Amino acid sequence: MSNVTPMMAQYLEIKEDAPDALLFYRMGDFYEMFFDDAVAAAEALDIALTRRGKHQGADIPMCGVPAHSAENYFLTLIRKGFRVAVCEQLETPEEAKKRGSKSVVKRGIVRLVTPGTLTEDSLLEARRHNYLAAYCSVRDDSALAWVDISTGAFHVTPCSPVRLGPELARLGPREIVVAEGREEEVRETVEDAGAALTTVARSAFDSDGANSRLCALFGVATLEAYGSFSRAELGAMGAVVSYLDLTQRGQLPLLRPPVKEATQRLMQIDGATRRNLELTHSLSGGRAGSLLACIDRTLTAGGGRLLERRVSAPSTQIDAINARLDAITWANSNSNLTQTLRDALRKTPDMDRALSRLSLDRAGPRDLAAVRDGLHQSLRISEALSAEVMPDLIMESVNALIGHSALLDLLDDALVAEPPLLVRDGGMVAPDYNAELDEARSLRDEGRGVIAAMQADFVSNTGISSLKIKHNNVLGYFIEVTATHADKMHAIDTFIHRQTTANQVRFTTVELSELETKILNAGSRALELEKRIYETLRQSILETSDGVYQAARALSELDVTTALADLATGENWNRPEITRDRDFAIIGGRHPVVEAALKSQGAQFVRNDTQLTATETASISLLTGPNMAGKSTYLRQNALIALMAQIGSFVPAESARIGVVSQLFSRVGASDDLARGRSTFMVEMVETAAILNQADDRALVILDEIGRGTATYDGLSIAWATLEHLHDVNQCRALFATHYHEMTQLAAKLPGVENATVAVKEWEGDVIFLHEVRLGAADRSYGVQVAKLAGLPESVVARARLVLEALEKGEREGGNQKAFIDDLPLFAAKPVPQPAPQTKSAAEGRLRDVLPDELTPKEALNLIYELKALA
Ligand code: ADP
Repeated sequence: MSNVTPMMAQYLEIKEDAPDALLFYRMGDFYEMFFDDAVAAAEALDIALTRRGKHQGADIPMCGVPAHSAENYFLTLIRKGFRVAVCEQLETPEEAKKRGSKSVVKRGIVRLVTPGTLTEDSLLEARRHNYLAAYCSVRDDSALAWVDISTGAFHVTPCSPVRLGPELARLGPREIVVAEGREEEVRETVEDAGAALTTVARSAFDSDGANSRLCALFGVATLEAYGSFSRAELGAMGAVVSYLDLTQRGQLPLLRPPVKEATQRLMQIDGATRRNLELTHSLSGGRAGSLLACIDRTLTAGGGRLLERRVSAPSTQIDAINARLDAITWANSNSNLTQTLRDALRKTPDMDRALSRLSLDRAGPRDLAAVRDGLHQSLRISEALSAEVMPDLIMESVNALIGHSALLDLLDDALVAEPPLLVRDGGMVAPDYNAELDEARSLRDEGRGVIAAMQADFVSNTGISSLKIKHNNVLGYFIEVTATHADKMHAIDTFIHRQTTANQVRFTTVELSELETKILNAGSRALELEKRIYETLRQSILETSDGVYQAARALSELDVTTALADLATGENWNRPEITRDRDFAIIGGRHPVVEAALKSQGAQFVRNDTQLTATETASISLLTGPNMAGKSTYLRQNALIALMAQIGSFVPAESARIGVVSQLFSRVGASDDLARGRSTFMVEMVETAAILNQADDRALVILDEIGRGTATYDGLSIAWATLEHLHDVNQCRALFATHYHEMTQLAAKLPGVENATVAVKEWEGDVIFLHEVRLGAADRSYGVQVAKLAGLPESVVARARLVLEALEKGEREGGNQKAFIDDLPLFAAKPVPQPAPQTKSAAEGRLRDVLPDELTPKEALNLIYELKALA
């Protein structure tokens, strides 16, 4: 490396430490990239690629981005699948000189930016968690651990390989860490979940190492206080922590102690069901149009995240559900208090994320203010509620809101109302907080006053009224006059010439330079003090972070409770009854998202009841009815009502009695679903198989037109056998929509299967959809009428009617259908005669020759008379 510059030598050494990331090498106000990194980054970021110097005789490709806007570039690169290693200057050039280093300041990687380890608000969605997960499997034991470093939440759950897909669908992590060599086992599942797959050394998953790493992290001798963990669980948690250590370069975020999630406490919902019911994302991918978007009335980012967690993981614990319902009932009957609460929540900043940045030392004064403002609102809420009789859940939350007065007083005294973004901007600390700081500031400010006085003196001494004292970063303070006055200034000895520009001449004086030094010293001393104060405030918050975290969590809980209460009153939702048996009785149920869409078009949603007959075994409703009648809507609304009930919310129904649902499944026949690489029919069958293999007797299953992705008889047979399996083997509650009328016969054969249909009216050959669900089978399918509504040419509709009649007649008479078809007149589909083109009237003929732009008003009037005569 003898002919390599010292800087390049340093670069190459650091780069060795981050071979699989783009190295952002800090040079003053820029991050610069070199060699292949530069080529890749320039292309990905669409920025200019240049050259800087030579290495081993060849040009070194280079590109750069300004440090102050680097965050956006990080995001672009991460979205494109890169990882970024951020290399900072670890000392100032002055420090380097003092140290005796010849030319290069010390630099080092301070952080690896990866999808799962973001903390900046600008890179995160406020209302969504940003999870990093690790999957560990050892022999026949496997587990998934996940963490949101932007909030500190840390969880682990046992997770067999078949459960990995559903768990990832629930959590939606951004990045998943697995051991080297194991990536192929999970690649497809991880890619399906839209996450980045990262491999780390196997040693990171070692359970013994993990145990001691976790004990050290949480400062405990054993992890038993948090529960008992299997080897796989320890391995997964350990891998998460060691990956954080790697990416944050030893600066670990403030993690909460791990919480072990028992899967049987949650309603199990797989990825296909989530997509299909559009729980947190609509089929088109965005949040808009999803159930979550429709019901989210939370006011804080933390509340938004909690609601998303709830919707993604409804509970199966009746006590927990009832506790949440009690809280909503209470909020609804105390509307004034609820209003006060919501006013306070509206002003509550995102304390969780501020805390996490503070712990990673990536924060600024506004994060201190976020904690202060959050605690203020906490205090306000706890005072408003102090004298109330409250349900347990609210009481617990309020208890977490009190007891922060020491920290709050400290922050109140120390901080100005609206602190600047960065400590180095100055002005973060309030006056009267620190005497030394006040003194330095007044010296600095007085200096500025003295300068103003000095300028006035110079003006009167020289008689140049336009003379100004100005400041810039190159010259510092200087006296400026226009070129016309230059001679006058040169004539006076005290003025020392500094610079001549096109129109101006600049001077200084000894006195001005001295004053400048004083001001600068006082200013930098003030900044120095502010930095120190910032650090003590940061430490004070971190020391009490546990309490602050609890308060943040309580605010989120109150936010979700009052938001759901607001929704319930606003939309007229009611409290469901959750039972231990297998009831499913809904009166006046609605689909919240379809209802909202109809409402915005001024249309009414038709309410429907659902009663799944309680029998010893299965209870299945077999729904027939024409397309567009509202079958899918009806099916999904029942699934959503069960889900809403079990997140502990009121439901869009007049009443609902629901025996706890352990698993929720929803499938749609192929043509409605998105093709995901495999044939759509194959997807449909794989997904149906998953239900038939997994659903237990507490499951709720929604099957919409299963079997339609193949030929009629195939489809009918598959649908038929599926229903029988659900009835005989799974013995679950199910809603089954089909257009195969033949299946209605099953109701007579299988106890617990009941026919229902969505009513339509036929009127003058058209159908009118009533959207009403009634018991009984549909009389016919009305497909031809629906096709007509869709605008199929009249000739095609007429022909279809003819074919249908022939087929039906054949069926009735038990004859050979083919013979009937053969009998059809070959050219029945005569096009309906178009109205013959009419001969043009004389008036039209006359008009065709008229060029309106060229007519005078007089000519136009004459033309009208002329036309009138022709008509
Ligand atoms: P199907 O599954 O029977 O083809 P959908 O459930 O897709 O029918 O419903 C078709 C349309 O009918 C929906 O887009 C919706 O606008 C309307 N609709 C469905 N159910 C109702 C209802 N209960 N009240 C009012 N309109 C409804």
